[in-house]
Amino acid sequence: MGRFLTLDEVDVAGKTVLLRSDFNVPVADGLVGDDFRIQAGLPTVARLQEAGARVVVCSHLGRPKDREPELRLDPVAARLGELGGFPVRKLDAVVGPEVTASVAAARAGEVVLLENTRFEPGETENDPELARGLADLADLFVLDAFGSAHRAHASTVGVAERVRSAAGPLLLAEVEALGRLLVNPPHPFAVVLGGAKVSDKLGVIRSLLPRVDIMLVGGGMCFTLLAAEGYEVGKSLLEEDMLGEVNEVLTSQWGDRIELPDDLVVADRFASDAEPRVVPRNAIPDEAIGLDIGPKSAAHFAAVIAGCAAVFWNGPMGVFEWEQFRSGTRTVAQALEGHPGFTVVGGGDSVAALQMLGLERAVSHLSTGGGAGLELLEGKELPGLVALERWADGA
Ligand code: ADP
Ligand code: MG
Repeated sequence: MGRFLTLDEVDVAGKTVLLRSDFNVPVADGLVGDDFRIQAGLPTVARLQEAGARVVVCSHLGRPKDREPELRLDPVAARLGELGGFPVRKLDAVVGPEVTASVAAARAGEVVLLENTRFEPGETENDPELARGLADLADLFVLDAFGSAHRAHASTVGVAERVRSAAGPLLLAEVEALGRLLVNPPHPFAVVLGGAKVSDKLGVIRSLLPRVDIMLVGGGMCFTLLAAEGYEVGKSLLEEDMLGEVNEVLTSQWGDRIELPDDLVVADRFASDAEPRVVPRNAIPDEAIGLDIGPKSAAHFAAVIAGCAAVFWNGPMGVFEWEQFRSGTRTVAQALEGHPGFTVVGGGDSVAALQMLGLERAVSHLSTGGGAGLELLEGKELPGLVALERWADGA
């Protein structure tokens, strides 16, 4: 009696399955850059294909305004076929008579990839006609694009309202891992937050703070918290309009679970070749910009992580893109290597940081769904998940 219909409960042999994947990957000069999302979604494609379905895959790519050729899915088709070791037939439209005919002519076990769903203006408006067109292609819809589950679009919610729909294994893994953090995390449970802006993460802070034992905050966002605590932060990233709300959180009944860095790495300009300097948090010079947590704080964060049974990390500890300011992020990432507990990392840049450090396999769960993951942890209902629920228990 699950919340969703799953692939374990359906026989897809000879059926046409529309699979919504998240293949929104970086593409440059006609080639896929980082293919993490294709790798993550590939097992679902392969499973359906091996089970003898006609697999019709769809995804969005970027934010097209006008069917820009560089946002076509051809490079994705090429990489998917390369990684999967099976041919992928790329169509040049999302819906329409030619798509219908091509899908009808597909053989069992064949993989077809539709064009960028956002080439259809109706996609982001959840246009009923587009949703109907997509639903009519298939006997079964599988939503595997967790990263798009927070959007009520035609290829996520609209289709799922119109044809029998199952949750894909990747989406299920995301919902289970993140859900466990919310509902029944092992304790002690530490949350480590960083990244650029506290305004992006305040919802997650509010939702998780009552559930954690400790919340460690670094990254650009720690300066707004330090400022709220009365520290001078120089020219560091500061969201002044957030000070009121941040103060509310810090003085709430759970406020003392938040730990801020004791020392910071600062520089006199925001540049990759700026001279790094370590300062205690009560001595950030007026002209200095904080670009990483300091070594003492990083070591402390790592020790806290080592002593916890569950860890959720979102947001790099500093400007990890620049070698000079990567140490804090590296130290925290290394604390996850060989960690025996339940460890989850989410967020586009956080995942990129782990990959850059070669530590992407160090965690229990690497979340591909940036915004969707954060919304789920905020306790929000994701429209894509709600749309799937009606098909639970074999409906
Ligand atoms: P995620 O994508 O993992 O959720 P964010 O998008 O919130 O993370 O933040 C990532 C960005 O935050 C990175 O580009 C990084 O350079 C930036 N960042 C981290 N620390 C600082 C800092 N001290 N000042 C400015 N930017 C920072
Ligand atoms: Mg980001």
